[in-house]
Formats: sequence, C-alpha cells, structure tokens
Amino acid sequence: MATPAISHEPLIDTFGRVHDNLRISVTDRCNIRCYYCMPETGVEFMERSEILSFEEIERFVRVAASLGVTKLRVTGGEPLVRKDLPDLIARLIAIPGINDLALTTNAVLMPQLARPLYDAGLRRINVHLDTLDRERFLHITRRDDLDKVLEGIALCRELGYGPIKLNAVAVKGLTEPDVVPIARFCRENNIEPRFIEFMPLDAQQIWDRNKVLLADDIIATLSREISPLIEIPDRDPRAPATEYRYADGGGRVGFIASVSKPFCLNCNRLRLTSDGKLRYCLFAIEEADVKALLRGGAPDQDIAAVIRSNVSEKWLGHEINSAKFVPPPRPMYAIGG
Ligand code: SAM
Ligand code: SF4
Repeated sequence: MATPAISHEPLIDTFGRVHDNLRISVTDRCNIRCYYCMPETGVEFMERSEILSFEEIERFVRVAASLGVTKLRVTGGEPLVRKDLPDLIARLIAIPGINDLALTTNAVLMPQLARPLYDAGLRRINVHLDTLDRERFLHITRRDDLDKVLEGIALCRELGYGPIKLNAVAVKGLTEPDVVPIARFCRENNIEPRFIEFMPLDAQQIWDRNKVLLADDIIATLSREISPLIEIPDRDPRAPATEYRYADGGGRVGFIASVSKPFCLNCNRLRLTSDGKLRYCLFAIEEADVKALLRGGAPDQDIAAVIRSNVSEKWLGHEINSAKFVPPPRPMYAIGG
C-alpha cells in the first residue's frame, strides 16, 4: 500500500496556536558553568553517538519546514562548542521555507567563530551576558572569560551582525547591581538587552520564587536610573519578550517574564533536543523520540506525523505559578534554552 502523502496544513494545536518556530539544540556541552544552569563539577554529558548528526538535523528541519516551520534558533548547551557549526548554519539557511535563523550563545568562542559564522550567513545573535564585572562574571559562570565575551561582541558588531540582543538572567539577591550597567552598555552599543526572569530549570534545583528578580522591578530601576520605559504596544504578540522603549529615544529593552507574566497563550515554539527528542514546551515532561525514526529508516511522512502529534498534545501552558508545577526531568542545558 502506498504511504500517504504529507499534509502541508499548518501545525495548529488544540488551542489554535500556529507553530512556525523551532529551537534546535546542537549540544548539551558548555565551556562555562553558569550556576543557575549547570553544576560546577561532575556534569554528565551525553555520549557523542547520542547526539544528532548534521544530516539528521537537516533532514528533520526539511520535514518541519514542509509543515510550516519558517524560523529557527540554534542553541544548546553552548552551540559554539559543536564542531563545524558554521557548516550546519549554512545548511539550515539553505532549506526552502526557512526565512529566519538566529543563534543563542555565551559568545566565549565568538572571537574565533564570528567570521566563519557570518560567512555561513548568520546575522541574528543573542549573546548571554549577565554582568560586566569580571569578579561577578567569574562568580556566576565559574570561568574567567568576560574579556573573550566582550571581544566577541565587539567583533560581531564590527562584522555587521544585527540585530544583536543580549540575554541577562535576572536573579534576586545577585544581579541587581548589574542591571543598570548592562542596560547602559547596550544603549552605547546598539544592542537590545532582554532580562530573563530566573526559571526553575537549573540542574541543582536551587530555584525558588523569592530568587526571581521580577521584570517590573527592573523596569522601575531602569526608568529611575536611565530614562522612563514605555511599553511598545504593537509588538509581535508571539514573541516571548515584552518590549519597552526609553522615553528619551535611547533604544529598546525586552523582558522575558516567564514567571511573573507567562506568555504561553501565544506560544509558537517547538524544541528539538541535541539527542533528537521533540518537545512542545521548555517545561514539558514528555518528549517524542525523533532520533529513533531518523536512525530507523522511517520515511518523512512518519517524522511529519510525530511532529503533528507532538503539537496536538501541547498543553495550554506551564504551571510555574501553581502548586501543581513539576520541574522538567532535564535541566535547561540538556533541553536547549
Ligand atoms: N549557552 C547559550 C547561552 O547561555 O546563551 C545557549 C543555551 S542557554 C541554556 C540559553 C539561555 O538560557 C541563556 O541565554 C540564559 O539566558 C538562559 N538561562 C539559563 N539558565 C536559566 C535559568 N535557570 N533561568 C532563566 N534563564 C536561564
Ligand atoms: Fe552554558 Fe548557557 Fe547554561 Fe551558561 S546558560 S552554563 S552558557 S548552557
């Protein structure tokens, strides 16, 4: 009997949300150890044979693109530690239907990789940086690599990357002194900062509601210390960040208020882990095994069917703010942030 053809209907879940955005984790490894993400020592990484090859990722994305996925974000772990990453970027950009590709990185390896990645076609990057203070960077990441990150950012600006965004995790009792310097640095360098509320995705389960530095508190601080922040009304409702602009015209600031203002109602994202599991949410408990299909000789129709089924199972939203909340079984670095 002939295999049924792939339906190219959009990926719509039971709540009417259209899914066109895929986050791809290319490794669970990292060259630094942010304390809210990874333990300092003894991290057990996946065997290399468990990680999807570039061919497998590319095939999965081709199928996803045929179902309406148009936007990709490459992440990890730290994506720049994946060997030959520029090759993967070039392959993904070339897939018909993909019209946007961005990368989330700690930028420690950007001094070496900014040019090859640019040559591969990458333009949009989010650099993760919480502080401009060397001691505090060392304290947060357990590595003395601030200079490399700053050098990487400067090189990306020089090469013409854009837009460049900066991800700063907002932890109460820790990152308050960094908020204003990070915001000023971004204003001076034409970078949009995005403050991300600390989420319960750390390997050691150190998260606690009282450790979340809330978006509203940061808005109040920046409005007082720099210039009043005004919410931008007509932003893309499906983007996770709520965007503000400075009243004095000095740029924009984004807030990912996953804890205080969850944005699940507009979620359009799917996630592929580096070991080939498909997840409909960062906080999902269950995953669909795509690797078994990719390695088992399954036709594209079967991969498409798993994607569709995963979307159809998607829940309305995470329950961080309810007593029912169960943290996902894997930490952020193993899922893909
Ligand atoms: N290594 C890259 C990086 O750090 O940007 C990509 C992966 S990392 C898991 C993706 C993003 O997750 C980071 O930019 C960081 O801002 C964010 N992140 C990590 N742990 C977090 C946590 N517990 N709560 C909120 N955001 C977190
Ligand atoms: Fe590495 Fe990113 Fe996790 Fe920091 S947040 S430890 S850079 S994966």
